[in-house]
Amino acid sequence: MPTFTAPIKDLQFVLHDLLRVSEQEIEGFADLDRDFTGAVLEEVGKLSSEVLSPLNVVGDTEGCTLENGVVRTPTGFKEAFDKVREGGWTALDAPEEFGGQGLPYVMHTAVNEPMVSANMAFNMYQGLTHGAFSAILAHGTDAQKAMYLPKLASCEWTGTMNLTEPHCGTDLGLMRTKAVPQDNGTYKVTGQKIFISAGDHDMSDNVIHLVLAKIPGGPDGIKGVSLFIVPKIRHDEDGNLKDRNGVSVGKIEEKMGIHGNSTCVMNYDEAEGYLIGEEHKGMRAMFVMMNEARLGVGLQGYAQAEVAYQNAVAYALDRLQGRAVTGTQNPEGPADPLIVHPDIRRNLMDQKSFVEGARAFTFWGAYLIDRAHRNDDAEALGLISLMTPVIKGFLTDKGFEYATAAQQVYGGHGYIEEWGMSQFARDARIAMIYEGANGIQALDLVGRKLAQDGGKHVMAFFDMIKTFIKENEDHDDLKTQFLDPLKQGSKDLQAAAMYFMQNGVKDPNNALSGSYDFMHMMGHVCLGYMWARMAKASFEALDAGADDVDFYQSKLATGRYYMQRQLPATGMHLARINTGAESVMALDAASF
Ligand SMILES: Cc1cc2nc3c(=O)[nH]c(=O)nc-3n(C[C@H](O)[C@H](O)[C@H](O)COP(=O)(O)OP(=O)(O)OC[C@H]3O[C@@H](n4cnc5c(N)ncnc54)[C@H](O)[C@@H]3O)c2cc1C
Repeated sequence: MPTFTAPIKDLQFVLHDLLRVSEQEIEGFADLDRDFTGAVLEEVGKLSSEVLSPLNVVGDTEGCTLENGVVRTPTGFKEAFDKVREGGWTALDAPEEFGGQGLPYVMHTAVNEPMVSANMAFNMYQGLTHGAFSAILAHGTDAQKAMYLPKLASCEWTGTMNLTEPHCGTDLGLMRTKAVPQDNGTYKVTGQKIFISAGDHDMSDNVIHLVLAKIPGGPDGIKGVSLFIVPKIRHDEDGNLKDRNGVSVGKIEEKMGIHGNSTCVMNYDEAEGYLIGEEHKGMRAMFVMMNEARLGVGLQGYAQAEVAYQNAVAYALDRLQGRAVTGTQNPEGPADPLIVHPDIRRNLMDQKSFVEGARAFTFWGAYLIDRAHRNDDAEALGLISLMTPVIKGFLTDKGFEYATAAQQVYGGHGYIEEWGMSQFARDARIAMIYEGANGIQALDLVGRKLAQDGGKHVMAFFDMIKTFIKENEDHDDLKTQFLDPLKQGSKDLQAAAMYFMQNGVKDPNNALSGSYDFMHMMGHVCLGYMWARMAKASFEALDAGADDVDFYQSKLATGRYYMQRQLPATGMHLARINTGAESVMALDAASF
């Protein structure tokens, strides 16, 4: 059975040594001192390892079932959901006026990570609800906010997002679900949505579906899409449940992983719906939910790699195979533990240096969101908009890669279900697909975000890195071990952006043939930047006489590994990008 322990020391390091949260002039940040965040993380760590983690395998093996139109979640999920609700974990960053605790988003992220590592499928029920909350908060009327937000914050009612239809996932302009206006101001929503996460279940009194649909007579394509609240059970003005709406579950999808989450075909048959935001501006409202969800999905990627890594380390310390090439390390035993072998070390260092870099990157993204929202900071908003496809695409690709790398440490036992390592890889795989498949994230980055606002945000990104390097170059070790490799990675990235500028207009295929490489390149540069900042913080802590010398030394060693063995991938990606579209597009479709 795999186990999970919340990486509290590292979560605290990122919050306090790296981001220095309590020193930031952002509303609510002053309260986030080490003691406070430490106490919160201890609690959520306990919940994650003692309640959620043991249910991970149960969810995987039992899955969800549909019985007479009712979805049943796996054994123990309901009781665990009650505990999560009672602990107030679902409403941490919701405004106090709607029943939340008003904490910053970065704190929500810190709490979310261990819960996702422990049980990704389970955590999606509240994750989707959080997204629905945010969309209604941003675009709902006062009455809608008053009705839905307190219930969604507490997860008394849960939420879903309904975009995908059988014939359209990426190209939502093809959508067929329609919403017909009624005289009383409501709409009748009719159509079929597929693959709807947490679409129905037995853990809350009601499910609030946020559904994209077209109002007949509106503009064609994506410009004619509007967003609706469609409750599973209709309610009166006080929120008392009335009768069943025209919403039903067609079936639960059989799938590769996240079996504990009910992925439903949802049928809407003249269901009563209420418009959110303006008619035909549904994508704008839905994007609040989607952008938040993309960060959450990026977190899922590395959170699965974290739990897989933890178990791989335990196995590598325990499993005896072969002798160390430099001489026996375990003379009492028949063989040395796996951890002595350089190739096992390489594998574990790949995982560790990715996960810790990814954590810093994601928390930095969450901090940018707080800066953007709480301080109305346009620069932070521009940066997080640029980073969102990178957080989603890069961290989920790598998260899956390292979840399978952790399987490899187990040899054949990694492939056998008994050890639980296959579940991490299977669960992590979906994160590369939903919330916009990763190819679409790359397209968004290169086709839209690079040029957004005249390229202002990407220029700000390069300036930020340049300034950081300049300001810290007088520290010799930081310079040679971290800043010089970062400078090279950033130069490669700029060269790629330049290639797109010079060749992408001539032939857009030149840009889009390299978009995936660019997303990975940018991911590496972002993690390199995070490692350089973490190294600076670690050097400072050691200079200041920090007690935990081993922690900071190992942070530096892990960072050096990333800079030496991962970041140089930017050179390979640049070489590929520079070849343009020719070899990618060389064959005609019939030759495949
Ligand atoms: C387990 C699970 C849970 C899900 N949960 C939800 C949910 O809660 N709500 C919801 O609405 N949906 C959900 N989805 C749907 C998911 O978001 C879609 O599957 C995804 O967006 C891709 O859409 P698609 O499957 O139709 O693939 P397609 O759109 O057909 O794309 C297929 C492939 O082609 C690529 N592609 C498409 N267009 C282009 C292009 N223009 N340029 C380059 N490449 C392109 C894509 O990257 C992808 O790799 C879920 C799916 C699964 C499997």
